[in-house]
Amino acid sequence: MKETSIVYLDQVSKIYPSTNGDVYAVRDVTIDVQPGEFYSLLGSSGSGKTTTLRLIGGFEIPEYGRVHISGDEVTTLPPYRRNVHTVFQNYALFPHMSVFQNIAYSLTLAKVPREEIGARVAEALRMFRIENLGDRRPAQLSGGQQQRVALARALINRPKVLLLDEPLSALDAKIRDEVRQELRQLQKQIDLTFIYVTHDQEEALALSDRIAVMHNGRVEQIGTPKQIYNYPASPFVAQFIGKANFLTGKVVDNSSEVVHVDMQGMVIRAMAPNDRPIVGETVTVMIRPERFKLGNQTADNQVADNQVVGKPVRVTYVGQLIEVQLETTIGLLTVMQLSNDGINETEDQRLTWNAIDGIVIPSM
Ligand code: ADP
Ligand code: MG
Repeated sequence: MKETSIVYLDQVSKIYPSTNGDVYAVRDVTIDVQPGEFYSLLGSSGSGKTTTLRLIGGFEIPEYGRVHISGDEVTTLPPYRRNVHTVFQNYALFPHMSVFQNIAYSLTLAKVPREEIGARVAEALRMFRIENLGDRRPAQLSGGQQQRVALARALINRPKVLLLDEPLSALDAKIRDEVRQELRQLQKQIDLTFIYVTHDQEEALALSDRIAVMHNGRVEQIGTPKQIYNYPASPFVAQFIGKANFLTGKVVDNSSEVVHVDMQGMVIRAMAPNDRPIVGETVTVMIRPERFKLGNQTADNQVADNQVVGKPVRVTYVGQLIEVQLETTIGLLTVMQLSNDGINETEDQRLTWNAIDGIVIPSM
């Protein structure tokens, strides 16, 4: 744990009994979240994200490990004794209540004096720039406005951490994009710690300061969006985040960070940013489709570290991008380029890329 961690999970496991033995919903998870971070738990359905969030919120107690909030151990404390607030899917606004009543709800329950409620709700409305919406019902609001009301309601008790479980998953794609941008802005503006659960890798990459990628109840990798995308630590992460080409070969030189990998008689140069593999080891080299250069684009005398010739077998236009699949001596490769570069599909293409564009990961 860092001194400053606001949420710290220390080797936490949550086990559910089932007829065919115990199910580890969460296994040996350690994460530390710093104040003000937008921290995402990213993984496919069933990977343990919600359970992890419930362990932080106090809705579950782990079989192993400890939960700390602001330096205090809270492992077995109930939700109301933790300074966190959970926001559920769809934001769950009360449809029959006005915006004002929605935001005031928990203060009303706690029998806070009316004047204080009025002042605090007014402050929340101002903060989220929805002063003129106090009398409306949720159905009379846009998606973005509903989100602001939900956040105002969540923040009225001044929690230190907001836990959000796929809050945008029910919105349609267009609104989701808009609301997503705004969520990020609001989070930075109010300077609160968010722990955000999503199965949507694009969403996690767009919003997060850091991401913990979860798989089968475990954390596979923790890093900034850039680290996770550019330097995936495992084949799972590389496959789960973005598109990638995977090439398998044997290491023939490991004397520097640029490793030489033999692929069917051709030596490919690639980076080993994590653990350096040993000579003779079978490894996978991951190359993102946008890292290749197609055609004679190195004609400016720049020599690339790697080069193969490929025969286009499929060309797909994806908006401003063009996706080309090519058959090469080292396998089928997928390349993404700006479509205005064009491509002559009937001609063999020269593919070039540098060592830094290929990342050595453990063999798949
Ligand atoms: P996610 O939110 O990533 O979809 P969950 O944390 O909800 O994943 O679930 C992780 C695993 O734990 C799943 O296999 C799920 O079926 C199991 N699980 C979750 N909650 C319970 C429960 N209350 N009882 C039994 N199994 C559960
Ligand atoms: Mg879930």
